[in-house]
Amino acid sequence: MTPLRDILAEMSGAAPDEAALVEKAYEFSKKAHASHTRYSGEPYFIHPAAVAKVLAEYGMDAATIAAGLLHDTVEDGLASREEIEKEFGSDVLFLVDGVTKLGRHKYRGAERHAESLRRLLVATASDIRVLIVKLADRYHNMTTLEHVPAHKRRRIALETLEIFAPIADRLGMGKMKRDLEDLAFPYVDPDAYTHAAQVRKLKTKETEDGLAKVQKTLQKDFAKKGLTEFRTEIRMKGLWSLHQKLKRKDDDITRIHDIAALRIILPKIEDCYAALGAVHALYKPLPGEFKDYIAFPKPNGYQSLHTTVVTPDAGIVEIQIRSEDMHRRAQFGIASHMSYKQLGKNAPRSSFAGLSFAWVRSLIPSLMKVSKPAAGAGGAVSPSPAWLSELADAHSSIAGSEEFVEGLKEDFFSHRVFLFTPKGDVVDLPAQSTPIDFAYAIHSDIGNHLQGAKVNGKLVSFDTALHNGDVVDIMTRDSAHPSPKWLEECRTSLARKHIRAALGMAEPEKQRKSVFRKRTKRERK
Ligand code: MN
Repeated sequence: MTPLRDILAEMSGAAPDEAALVEKAYEFSKKAHASHTRYSGEPYFIHPAAVAKVLAEYGMDAATIAAGLLHDTVEDGLASREEIEKEFGSDVLFLVDGVTKLGRHKYRGAERHAESLRRLLVATASDIRVLIVKLADRYHNMTTLEHVPAHKRRRIALETLEIFAPIADRLGMGKMKRDLEDLAFPYVDPDAYTHAAQVRKLKTKETEDGLAKVQKTLQKDFAKKGLTEFRTEIRMKGLWSLHQKLKRKDDDITRIHDIAALRIILPKIEDCYAALGAVHALYKPLPGEFKDYIAFPKPNGYQSLHTTVVTPDAGIVEIQIRSEDMHRRAQFGIASHMSYKQLGKNAPRSSFAGLSFAWVRSLIPSLMKVSKPAAGAGGAVSPSPAWLSELADAHSSIAGSEEFVEGLKEDFFSHRVFLFTPKGDVVDLPAQSTPIDFAYAIHSDIGNHLQGAKVNGKLVSFDTALHNGDVVDIMTRDSAHPSPKWLEECRTSLARKHIRAALGMAEPEKQRKSVFRKRTKRERK
């Protein structure tokens, strides 16, 4: 059983009243669950205590940790909502309520998939902390899935793989995503799991000594170049992610170069590029394999330099270079932006309450304008993610490149809407997107033969703006083709690109209009 002191130990930056809130919730939950046991026969309280510990590790605030401790009390009829509010306040009740609501929806195949996902997202839109509690809850339940009756295991594992892991990924919580995937994998496809585990083991044996040598060589070489402050680690690919890649590469292990990767973690961004230079001077990089996710972060905020090099000691090796900051964010994602471990003791606590999914979706462009951390403030960090401020800086240095700024906003930062196919797959598009964007987001062929669209069962015109949670059913016909008008009706550059190609329009913008005019005239005749 997780002792209270283990949870408190993770809350190093917390104020006394915050520790007191967690302590009170701990005792309350322990008492409430006293007569309950888990499937394993162990005391039920093991579960909320473990969930709270995970939340504390992720650096969540006291209200969220308290909600983790209390998350099953209302659901299981052990405490009333009024009691929770009276004892712990409305913030904690709000979070407990959110988690309880999410818990009511179970994944039962395609149709339920859409329903539960939609509810997840709607609930989340009000406060991201609800979802983080739910992820921690699911994580702990997955570690004890073997005790759950066999007929339930597969459903729970599938739900974890198809709903919770992708959400963790979207929130940039790489560690959570990988843990959830690898815990679920053996229950979903035992044979594939065994195969992936064997492949990884084989590869580990093969490359272990070689990678250790590469590590040593790099250490010596870096020291010579004055790069002394860094650490390296070997990261093995997660089994589910390896399985996906094996499928993509026709099970050809020789085509996968990142089963084992060498990670180099340095203090600052400049060090990362210096290290990259040193690595490329030492080993020949494979052309086309270098990715600068520092300058161009993934949409979920992930940053690193990835390069694949040929080494005499370990063959082809992927090397990932990142700063300590990026490393922490790659693991904890959005949670790290809320963490007082990062914000420091003197950071305004009020910043927690305002953090929500809505913040991720819509506030980011405005944050970019105001949230530059004070230079040389001695570790004081602005409550907004540092990578945002860095991007804001990047913008000012490429002044004049309006298109770039607009592109960034459009692709990463503008409002997003989450839409569903009739089968329950999620499609994530910029707000104001239309059925045309939706069709092209699924596949260019679908877009190019788009004939009609239904939203929530009703036929709509192609210029209809889609809303969060809409179920979009695209109808195609072989004889249907893009019309120039679509260029005015779509919102994504992907759709525009395909439409132009299908219409045989090489030049963007200016020519677009003239062609459009010509065609419509011809059509009128
Ligand atoms: Mn639970």
